[in-house]
Amino acid sequence: MRNIVLLGAPGAGKGTQAVLIAKEYNIPHISTGAILRKNIQEGTELGKQAKSYIEAGQLVPDSLVIDIVADRLGQDDAKNGYILDGFPRTIAQAEALDRVTTIDLVLDINVPFEAIIERLSGRLVCKCGETSHVDWVDSDRKCPKCGETLFVRDDDKPETVRARLAVYEKQTAPLIGYYEAKGNLVSVDVDGSDQVEDVFEKVKKVL
Ligand code: AMP
Repeated sequence: MRNIVLLGAPGAGKGTQAVLIAKEYNIPHISTGAILRKNIQEGTELGKQAKSYIEAGQLVPDSLVIDIVADRLGQDDAKNGYILDGFPRTIAQAEALDRVTTIDLVLDINVPFEAIIERLSGRLVCKCGETSHVDWVDSDRKCPKCGETLFVRDDDKPETVRARLAVYEKQTAPLIGYYEAKGNLVSVDVDGSDQVEDVFEKVKKVL
């Protein structure tokens, strides 16, 4: 059970849980969002093409992300498993994924809508991949993992958050039915008061 997909709305905690799962099971954490942000920072052709979509809270075209993921899954460190975070996000991406690999388990992190809004509105991230929240860190906002200064993602602005949630409902939520039909979906229900560790305990039980 080592080829894992994480599903969940923006702000459900996919990134945070993916980091913990990757460490616990010694598998690479593959986040298309992180790959795209890195490309934007580095000013690559891919970054230039993806930037306007990300800033508008829209999905980048399937053709841009499918090849990146197929390449990444072909690398040696992904041979014994991986955790995919933020991919697939459309049925077409899921179908493309099925053509290049076999998914053992799809974990849907299900968080109530109000909690999602609360989390996204205070989310802080770090270049090292760590995710945090304004309520959890001191006012100097240093990353608890590497000490760099945490920052707010450009696409966590309220208008963009609304767009991203609408995109999730329309384009990504149908994946729940897609994987349910295949019989490899498990859901973890998280309530607003659950801490990161509580969620990870629930996650470990189903993995
Ligand atoms: P994330 O870090 O997963 O929330 O992704 C941030 C943004 O990157 C998303 O809002 C999309 O604009 C883009 N993105 C990430 N993964 C995908 C994907 N699989 N398909 C299309 N766009 C993506």
